[in-house]
Amino acid sequence: MTISKTQQNKLQKHAEQIAQILQKNYPSPKTELNFKDEYQLAVAVMLSAQTTDKKVNQVTPALFEKYAKWSDLALATPADIVPIIRAVNFHIGKAERLVKAGKVVTSLFGGQLPHELTELIKIPGVARKTANVILQELWDITEGIVVDTHITRVSQRLGLTTNDDPKKIEKDLMLLLQQKYWRNYSGAVVLHGRYICTARNPKCEECVLHTVCPSAFKI
Ligand code: SF4
Repeated sequence: MTISKTQQNKLQKHAEQIAQILQKNYPSPKTELNFKDEYQLAVAVMLSAQTTDKKVNQVTPALFEKYAKWSDLALATPADIVPIIRAVNFHIGKAERLVKAGKVVTSLFGGQLPHELTELIKIPGVARKTANVILQELWDITEGIVVDTHITRVSQRLGLTTNDDPKKIEKDLMLLLQQKYWRNYSGAVVLHGRYICTARNPKCEECVLHTVCPSAFKI
């Protein structure tokens, strides 16, 4: 959709208001995935697609006990991993990608995750969303905005995007929000979507954004 310069300016002001409210109310949002090192965070984020963090946190202790580093995963087979991660959705595909990721991180990156988005997305199972979370959570590097199911839904309700494709949504948000807000928006909206602007029955009466949200009390 093409919009005029005036509409774009108006949307940018709207986005700025939202970003400021979020920053005030979620000053330092953090992932709710449990992890002790970069390997554990990356694996947990890879497992979290289409699955709750709670489910991921249930399976990762056993997974990390058996496979403590990328080279351990590289030597495993998907059939070894499937029973351990069975509780998460799409566990067969995820097990296959974890083994492939173990091989790539070990052979291409010497067992250490790279610190650039363009390199991270070379790892099987790591798309832009996962790469953005890894960069932001581990090293405070912000190259983009995390777009998951919560950020998609909440950004649409807030009128910041009309797209469904994560890449297009990220582009829309990056055009509307100043870069200084990208990190906070990513973390805050995930939590806001999980606890307040839920898929069904959003809690608009409790929502700090209800005065600026075009969807308030309409869903
Ligand atoms: S006002 Fe309602 S629809 Fe809008 S962001 Fe808040 S909870 Fe979601």
